[in-house]
Amino acid sequence: MPVSVEFLKELPKCEHHLHLEGTLEPDLLFPLAERNGVALPENFPKTTAELEEKYKSFADLQDFLNYYYIGTNVLLQEQDFFDLAWAYFSRVASQGLCHAEVFYDPQSHTERGVALETVTAGFKRACERAERELGITSKLIMCLLRHEAPAKCMDLVRAAQPLIQDGTIAALGLDSAEKPFPPALFKDCYAAAKAMNPDLQLTAHAGEEGPAQFVTDALDLLHATRIDHGINSSQDPALLERLARDRTLLTCCPLSNVKLQVVQDVRELPLQRFLDAGVPFSINSDDPAYFGGYILENYVAVSKAFPTWDVAVFAKIAANAIEGSCVQVTLEDQKRINEFSKLVLRKDTAASELARQRREKEYLDDVSLEIELVDEDEKVQYRIGELFVFLPQAEVVAQLEKDMEALDERIAGLEDKEAAIDERIGELKGELYAKFGDNINLER
Ligand SMILES: [Zn+2]
Repeated sequence: MPVSVEFLKELPKCEHHLHLEGTLEPDLLFPLAERNGVALPENFPKTTAELEEKYKSFADLQDFLNYYYIGTNVLLQEQDFFDLAWAYFSRVASQGLCHAEVFYDPQSHTERGVALETVTAGFKRACERAERELGITSKLIMCLLRHEAPAKCMDLVRAAQPLIQDGTIAALGLDSAEKPFPPALFKDCYAAAKAMNPDLQLTAHAGEEGPAQFVTDALDLLHATRIDHGINSSQDPALLERLARDRTLLTCCPLSNVKLQVVQDVRELPLQRFLDAGVPFSINSDDPAYFGGYILENYVAVSKAFPTWDVAVFAKIAANAIEGSCVQVTLEDQKRINEFSKLVLRKDTAASELARQRREKEYLDDVSLEIELVDEDEKVQYRIGELFVFLPQAEVVAQLEKDMEALDERIAGLEDKEAAIDERIGELKGELYAKFGDNINLER
């Protein structure tokens, strides 16, 4: 029995392989074409329904790319890029997506005269709003179009220098038609970008339709620390061993692989082999508007194709996805986060105990005021433990003194404990914020 859709929806998911341009739904494409006065080619479908029909069957990667690049032509203004990304975030917010590292292809726009800054600003604004309003954190990954000459890709890297340096672009990627354009062509581009900012992460599409060797080349020549698709890695046992050893994440896209005829069925994907070999992978949607499913639909497709995978297997996949994110959470970080959560609970317990003791102190203060008005031979009601008893005034005075002393000691102890917890919470917060910045929220 496959796991339930409800469980997959609740599972905290990260998406690492999503082309923002690939989220352009027909119902946004036509209005944007009209808004911007963009004429679509004569033989292009004329209605949303016709275009959706076309999206149901692509002959191969190239056939898809032809439609994909026509689609991008309708994007011109900063607002268009914002609208596109915002539509994506709004949709996946209800699918349990927590974190997205999203690709964009500036060259598809700059060659049409749209500035890199315009594209980036629109996407960035949507990312910021998604974090603010939907609680989805994100990173932008700038991709080089590998069908373009490496020299032109280098121009893009140079133009993007300020955005790479200020961290707006968190990672560099490589996409588009894979087979004729091996990773080696882009070695210099990757080196130049990394030199601009050592924190820049490197990833590359490899091993989707290209051979396992392209994956090895992406690791060795481009120094990628993540591989997009990477499906064909399964052909090379030594490579699998290496990916497992280095915890290199493969960003798999099941529905895309079926749509682009990389495999005929999700069941043919080597996901079980990756699991058995300890190769971490995440599940992603690639170009969801074109491939018939966003992240949740991809998880569901995998659960149906691998019905023996239980909640523990999916939890492992989701955990691997978190670990493989650009914001890397190490085991040490995980320990810190756990300690932080425990301390917050302990602080709550200590605070309510302190409040209880302070109420007790108020009671004793009341009694000591009251007792001054009572004659020595009279009896006074006094609380011992849970019991109220009548005692001679002198006995109450003696008992009260003892109780006050003990209580003061307890309160001082609790105050010390609370201060120590606060101090440790402060330290952990400092360490976690220093590493994760805005990507973590430790406030309540
Ligand atoms: Zn892709």
